[in-house]
This record gives sequence, C-alpha cells and structure tokens, in this order.
Amino acid sequence: MKQISVDVLVIGAGPSGTVAASIINKAGFSVAVVEKMKFPRFVIGESLLPKCMEALDEAGFLDAVKSKGFQQKFGAKFVKNGKICDYFFADQYTPGWNWTWQVPRAEFDKTLADECEKMGIPVSYETTVTGIRFFDDESSVTTVQYTDGSTAEITARFIVDGSGYGRVIPRLFNLDRPSTLPPRKALFAHTVDKKRSMSDEPNRITIVTHKPGVWVWVIPFSTGITSLGFVGTPDFFKTFDGNDEQVYRALIESEPYLAERFRDVELVFSPRVLESWSSTTDKFYGNGFVLTGNVTEFLDPIFSSGVTLATISSQNAAHLVIKKLKGENVNWEKEYMEPVMQGVNTFRSYVTSWYDGTLDTIFFAEKQVPEIKNMICSVLAGYVWDTTNPYVKNHIQALQVLARKIEYRDMMEKKTS
Ligand SMILES: Cc1cc2nc3c(=O)[nH]c(=O)nc-3n(C[C@H](O)[C@H](O)[C@H](O)COP(=O)(O)OP(=O)(O)OC[C@H]3O[C@@H](n4cnc5c(N)ncnc54)[C@H](O)[C@@H]3O)c2cc1C
Repeated sequence: MKQISVDVLVIGAGPSGTVAASIINKAGFSVAVVEKMKFPRFVIGESLLPKCMEALDEAGFLDAVKSKGFQQKFGAKFVKNGKICDYFFADQYTPGWNWTWQVPRAEFDKTLADECEKMGIPVSYETTVTGIRFFDDESSVTTVQYTDGSTAEITARFIVDGSGYGRVIPRLFNLDRPSTLPPRKALFAHTVDKKRSMSDEPNRITIVTHKPGVWVWVIPFSTGITSLGFVGTPDFFKTFDGNDEQVYRALIESEPYLAERFRDVELVFSPRVLESWSSTTDKFYGNGFVLTGNVTEFLDPIFSSGVTLATISSQNAAHLVIKKLKGENVNWEKEYMEPVMQGVNTFRSYVTSWYDGTLDTIFFAEKQVPEIKNMICSVLAGYVWDTTNPYVKNHIQALQVLARKIEYRDMMEKKTS
C-alpha cells in the first residue's frame, strides 16, 4: 500500500480546508489535502460575507479570486409584502472589509484549491478518507481510497477536518450530536435571469419573506445566472403537488415579488433539495485533530454565515496548529472552541430571531435608528466577534428589547393617531 507522510493532513478541499492548508503551508510545514470529489463540483453556499475576506487574504487567495470577475456584493436586501429593508455593508459599525462576492461555488472552490496547488500543496482529488487511527502522541494514520479501489496510508502529525457535510471525524468516532434547530428544507436551482434588471440590483443578496418561516434567496452572479432558492419546513413543501421542478415553479408563481421575473425561467439544472443540514458535535478538537467549517456546526442559510464561519474557524485553527507543531502549548478550549462558539452563538440568536419574527419587526420598522441599524448590519457582514457591538455582545437580549420597543412605539403611535 502507498505510504505518505506529512506534518498536516487536511480533509476536504472546500473553503475551510484550503484556507487552513495554505496558512499552515506558508508557515513552513508540509501539508496534503485529500478531497473526495473531482473539482469543479457543485456545492451550495454562494453568498459570502465581508468578514471572510480576512481569511481569504491571509491565505493568499484574494488576487486569484479577484481575477475571476465574480459579482461583487455590497449588502443584503430584505423584502416582505412590498416593504424593503436594505443593509449596505459600507454602513457597518465594525471597521473592516465592507464588500465581498457572490460566487458559483464550483468555480470559487476550484480557484482556492488551484491556488493551494500553485503554492506546492498536493491536492489529491477523488480520494476518500475511510478510516483514521490516532496515537497517544497525537499523530495519526489515515486510510484513503482512490476511485480505482486502491488505498493509501497517510501518516500525519495533525489532522484538520474540513470535510463539510461529510463530517468525517465526527462520523468515524461517533461524535455527531443533533442540532437544537428544527429541521428545514431547501429547494433551489440556478436560473438564466434574463429579466434581472426589472426588480433587482445584482450587487447584493435579496431575501424575500414568502410567509412566516418560509423565505427565498435571490443571489445574482456576474454571468447573468441567478441562484434562486426556497427554504421552509419540510411540511410546508408537502403542501405542493408534483415533482421538484413543478413545486419550484409553483412557488415562484405564488410569490408576487418573483413571479413576473422568474415565470417560465430557464433552469441551468433541475431543482435540487437539501434537508436537515444542521448538526454539531460536543467538541471541535481532540487528540491529534481539529474540526473546521461546517464540521463544527452549521446552523441555517438565512444569513449566509456558512463560508464565513468555515474560513474564519479555519484561519483560527491554522494558527493554533502552527503553534502546536512549533512545540507550544495550545489551550484548544479557550483559544478555539470558545471563539468559534462566540460566532456560532451570535448567528444562532439571529437565526432564531429571524424564524420567530423578532427580526421581521426590526427590519421592517417604519422608523429606523441609523446607529442601531449599522450595528445589526455589522452582524450581517459577519463581524460576530466584535463584542464592542452591543448587538453582538448581548445578542439575545438586544434584539428582543429592540423589537419590544418598536412594538410599543407602534402601539402608542396608533393610539394617539
Ligand atoms: C440550503 C443552503 C444554503 C446555503 N447558502 C449559503 C450562503 O449563501 N452563503 C454561505 O456562506 N453559506 C451557505 N451555506 C453553507 C455552506 O454550504 C457551507 O457552510 C460551506 O460550504 C462550508 O464550507 P466547508 O469548507 O466547511 O465545507 P464544504 O464546502 O462542504 O467542503 C467540504 C469538502 O470535503 C469533502 N469531503 C467530504 N467527505 C470527505 C471524505 N470522506 N474524504 C475526503 N473529502 C471529503 C467534500 O467533497 C467537500 O468538497 C448554505 C447551506 C445550505 C444547506
């Protein structure tokens, strides 16, 4: 059997895997990436947040991504029953990157993986991790299988598991835990968006509230293709008859904001379904490994937090792996688990507040306080670690208190009018 030896084995060539691989490689350690699929491959998660630019920058990916001419993204627009709430990242409270991209992930992820290869990092495609043995000194031997059925063993001093929905280490070692969020389903496709100019600005994501708990993403790409996806409870989708495409077209027809633009739209691929994507584990690290990106916890697509949490967790993990390989002590709980959970928990409050209607009250309030709007904008831009922002520091209470104040003000105004 083929034997390979490296300092760090990275599982998965998604954004989380490639960011970690590049940063660790730049520090002078040998890295190998193994990836189950052949790239380019489809994956959902097309709207980025400005915060992730920090990780892409440190990984040395920005120039390559810029050269692809992806659609720039400057904000997020929320639409409900004809009301519009626009957030522009230029207004965000936290200093830092205030724009990013909307990307077809097949091309984006391949760009990052190609950059890794240009840096001299071997990326082995169509190579699936099937087993791992960890030893007391934190080293490991990973068995991988190639598409021809042959296998190899990779000895590593440390493993970064960035396997996304594959959840390699949690699955192999039975670490998976169910998420506290209720199951949701998405039905989505790429569309040839010929009537784009009639209702949309391509430079931001549009989120349409269709009915309570059901929403739509509209993510235009620079190619003229637009990603259009519906998210709701599995039961909501059961209220429609027909196959996935018939349901998808019926949903378009039933949403006034979308119907005219997307009626009879040409689809690039038949609508796809994803369901019950939220899961987590108790610990994002262990003897000889760290979990990054979606393998830690993926919440919900509503605020496009996935790639940002993936790349920022990976950036952080890479720094700690480097520290460890240099023989320094790492307190994984304090230095890794806590910061990752800070980000995840802040987004969790926003996700919960979205589905329980709290954010509806805030987004569509008639009178907006610009300072507060800018603080919420910062969260929507991914700055969920800036605890100088009261809407990060007190994420749970701050949103509830604000929504109650708006409701009270509206009630008093109605009484006096
Ligand atoms: C409906 C929906 C919509 C979303 N929309 C957005 C959005 O707009 N913006 C956003 O930021 N995020 C979004 N997300 C989340 C986004 O998909 C993920 O958060 C993101 O892809 C995570 O990146 P990653 O690198 O951790 O994992 P991935 O991108 O999934 O990459 C992991 C890689 O590991 C490989 N792998 C898996 N198993 C193995 C194995 N055994 N051996 C070797 N390799 C393996 C996989 O093939 C894959 O290429 C959405 C998610 C859903 C469900």
